Amino acid sequence: MIRKIVKYPSPVLQKVAQPVEKVTDDIRRLIDDMAETMYAGDGVGLAAPQVGESVRVIIVDVSGGSLSEQEGLLKMINPEVLEGSGEIEFEEGCLSVDDMRVHMKRNEKVKVRYLDENGAQQEMEANDLLSVAIQHEIDHLDGKLIIDNVSRLKRDMYIRKRKRLDDNPVAF
Ligand code: ZN
Repeated sequence: MIRKIVKYPSPVLQKVAQPVEKVTDDIRRLIDDMAETMYAGDGVGLAAPQVGESVRVIIVDVSGGSLSEQEGLLKMINPEVLEGSGEIEFEEGCLSVDDMRVHMKRNEKVKVRYLDENGAQQEMEANDLLSVAIQHEIDHLDGKLIIDNVSRLKRDMYIRKRKRLDDNPVAF
């Protein structure tokens, strides 16, 4: 089921998400919904708070996959960065922050530990775009957004503009 993507400045995007205690069918259903929502939105990653669920679940697919072909889809529960190295700069966008791209510096390479959808512990190393996407999604679990990295003035202007758009849903 495609879920509605929560947009900034909604509070759920700005709080620390809870760890998953047990990987249940509910969690697997949430992951399926997140995948459907991410592919429909042409995203390369999605975190559970972006569909309004404040739990530590993320998905990432940088392979250009689709709902029918999910070979590159990574599903990570309670992901943790164990090690990071190198530096990479990238213009990042976010499905929860429409019409904004922010220049971000991140680790080029990360080692991540997480639970898979069967509750088994996994570790993997990622670099380049995959590393960036994983770090972006883990930031969501900690209530951090790309817009936190722009000036306060620019952020306030953005909030005012979005509010205007929301008040006037019909645009010409
Ligand atoms: Zn995002």
